[in-house]
Amino acid sequence: MKLEDTKSLVTGAASGIGRCIALELASAGATVVGGDVDMEGLKSLELEAKELPGKIYVLQLDVANESNVKEFIFAACEKIGYPNTLINNAGILRDGLLVTQDEDGWLRKLPTAQWKRVIDVNLTGAFFMAREFAAVAIEQNVSPALIVNISSVTRSGNPGQSNYSASKAGLDADTRTWALELAPFGFRVAGVAPGLTNTPILSRVSPTALADMTGSIPLKRIAEPYEIWQAVRFIIECDYFTASVIDVDGGARF
Ligand code: NAD
Repeated sequence: MKLEDTKSLVTGAASGIGRCIALELASAGATVVGGDVDMEGLKSLELEAKELPGKIYVLQLDVANESNVKEFIFAACEKIGYPNTLINNAGILRDGLLVTQDEDGWLRKLPTAQWKRVIDVNLTGAFFMAREFAAVAIEQNVSPALIVNISSVTRSGNPGQSNYSASKAGLDADTRTWALELAPFGFRVAGVAPGLTNTPILSRVSPTALADMTGSIPLKRIAEPYEIWQAVRFIIECDYFTASVIDVDGGARF
C-alpha cells in the first residue's frame, strides 16, 4: 500500500511512537485519525500537523472501553470515510514482581488490578480495535486493509513485567491469528517489536534499571521513535508482508 493511500487509525497517538507514526503518515500525505485518552496531547498533535500535506483528526479514545472503541470507529468513519489501516499502538506499563519479600518477611503480591489494567489496555484494547475495524472494513468491502500491532522486545518475558510481557506475547499470537483469519478478505496483519525507545513511557522505569538495560543493548543506545516508524513504513509498503513481527531492538533480547 502506498503511504499516501492510507486512511489510518492510530491508537495512543498523543505521545511517543504513536505520535511519530501519525506525523510521519501525515507528512507522506496520508489521512489519519489519532485516538488517545490524553486529549491535551491530541490537541497539540493536531496543531503540529497543521502544515503537513496530509491531515490528522483527533478523537478521544480509551481502547480498553468496548463501547468507546465502537464510538471511536463510528466517528472516525464520519470524518475520513472507511479506514484501511489500523495501528494498534496504545500501551501502558505497570511493572511489579509476582511476589516480593521485604526484610521483615512481609510478602507483597502483584495486585490483581495492576495485572488486569495492563492486559485490558495492551491486549484486550487491541482486540476491541481490530475486531471493530475488521468488521467495518469487511462490511464495506475495504480491501486491501492492514493492521499493525506494536509489540515489545519483552514479549518473551522480563522480570517485573509479567503483565506487560504476557500482553505483548498475546498480541503477537493474535498478529498471526488475525493474519490467517483475515487474509481471505484482503487483509494483512503484522507487528513491530521495539526495544527500549526514547518516549515518555520510560519515565516509569528507574534511571538505574534504564542504564543497566541500555548497557546490555549491543548497539549501546536506545531507539528513537522514528526508527520504529521505519519498520511500520516497511510493513505498510510491502504488500507481501503479513503474519510476522519485526524486531527493532538494537540486537537486545531480554
Ligand atoms: P507513550 O507512553 O509515550 O505513549 C503511549 C500512548 O498511549 C500515550 O499517549 C497514552 O496516553 C496512550 N494510552 C494509554 N492508555 C490508553 C488507552 N487506554 N486508550 C488509548 N490510549 C492510551 O509510550 P510509547 O513508548 O510511545 O508506547 C507506544 C507503544 O510502544 C506501546 O504499546 C508500548 O508498549 C510499545 N513499546 C514501547 C517501548 C519503549 O521503550 N518506549 C518499547 C517496546 C514497546
